[in-house]
Amino acid sequence: MALTLHQIGVLFLVIEQASEIRPLGVGINLQPYPTRKLMKLGFTRNNLDSVGLPALKTAVVGLNRQDINATLPGITASYRWLQYAAYRDR
Ligand SMILES: Cc1cc2nc3c(=O)[nH]c(=O)nc-3n(C[C@H](O)[C@H](O)[C@H](O)COP(=O)(O)OP(=O)(O)OC[C@H]3O[C@@H](n4cnc5c(N)ncnc54)[C@H](O)[C@@H]3O)c2cc1C
Repeated sequence: MALTLHQIGVLFLVIEQASEIRPLGVGINLQPYPTRKLMKLGFTRNNLDSVGLPALKTAVVGLNRQDINATLPGITASYRWLQYAAYRDR
């Protein structure tokens, strides 16, 4: 939001209680709308490809490797933007 407010020239102030911003977890799923937002901010498909993979399917998989539940993300679910699975170590 701060980047968008800056982009459209709105004065704002970010107030954050944490003294340090640190990554949590091993990865993050960029849903279609965040992908759209990043592209509107100037990020390219190449930028996103350099940090993650377009997700073509998301699934909860059992120990028997069978899908318990599976959904189609991003453009495979008819959104106009891709969903990305990004790893934090890249
Ligand atoms: C384990 C986990 C995994 C997730 N994975 C994903 C994912 O892969 N993809 C995805 O899209 N979403 C994911 N989410 C959800 C996503 O993290 C949240 O929807 C998103 O961070 C919400 O953003 P926010 O800015 O509203 O709140 P937050 O990110 O929670 O930001 C709120 C901020 O306000 C600060 N704050 C709190 N109280 C005060 C105060 N009194 N004064 C000043 N600052 C204060 C906090 O320190 C914090 O930095 C995940 C969530 C969890 C818990």
